[in-house]
Amino acid sequence: MRLDAAITDAVERLAPASDSTRLDAEILLCQTIDMPRSYLFAHPEDELDDLTIERFEALLRRRIDGEPMSYITGVKEFWSRELLVSPATLVPRPETELLVELALREIPRKAEWRILDLGTGSGAIAVSIAGERPLSNITATDLSPEALAIAAENVRQADLANVTCIEGSWAAAVAGKQFDLVVSNPPYVRSDDAALQKLRHEPRSALTSGEDGLDDIRILASDCAAILAANGLLMMEHGAEQQTDVANILEAAGWVEIACHNDLAGLPRVTVARRNGT
Ligand code: GLN
Repeated sequence: MRLDAAITDAVERLAPASDSTRLDAEILLCQTIDMPRSYLFAHPEDELDDLTIERFEALLRRRIDGEPMSYITGVKEFWSRELLVSPATLVPRPETELLVELALREIPRKAEWRILDLGTGSGAIAVSIAGERPLSNITATDLSPEALAIAAENVRQADLANVTCIEGSWAAAVAGKQFDLVVSNPPYVRSDDAALQKLRHEPRSALTSGEDGLDDIRILASDCAAILAANGLLMMEHGAEQQTDVANILEAAGWVEIACHNDLAGLPRVTVARRNGT
């Protein structure tokens, strides 16, 4: 089969699974033949041998089955960096860049802030903050050793000396330590959310958290004050419909200056709160 025909055929078959069929087909073919995308446009008439077609077919079938491109390619771009991802981690979402942006607004360039990223997954938030604020010290935790290994590798590849990875559950992973800022993109999808069907290749434990999706946010609201310095900040990503619930949970747990921020799509996505008292 010719290279251009293989792409046309793949584009058609990808339609039910993808909103970016041509791009996906091209990336998967490039991965198969280990060539840059420019090669596809320069050599449309290349004949693909049977083994190549078979290998392309294997990747295509994964994508048609709904697997995210990032798990097939092993990488995802986040905050201008190419990060490793695996099925042990969520694929970093563009809306999570809002959390990074809000954190950078608070973290001084010329002070040594202690920052904690709880449930770091691929390390996307920790690595992005660490790169932008070299004087700060970032601790990144995750309950999953497989996810934490990916985060550690992303730290290594980014050549960052200011990130420490620790395995463990939420604040318990760093009991006795103190931070100036805690950030987290915890699981928050409702257990009955129809969107979970589309997210079935991603780790369930990183997505859902009880019936209303707020179980882990409740834990963070009750446990994070103890690991924050006086006036320390907590920033959490949450679902677009959870703004009021999250504010109520934080208020009941004694947090002050609670404020919610919108993502680029105009949806309320990240809530910031300050620890009350000294
Ligand atoms: N924003 C993700 C989604 O809805 C969920 C991420 C999370 O639960 N932290 O696809």
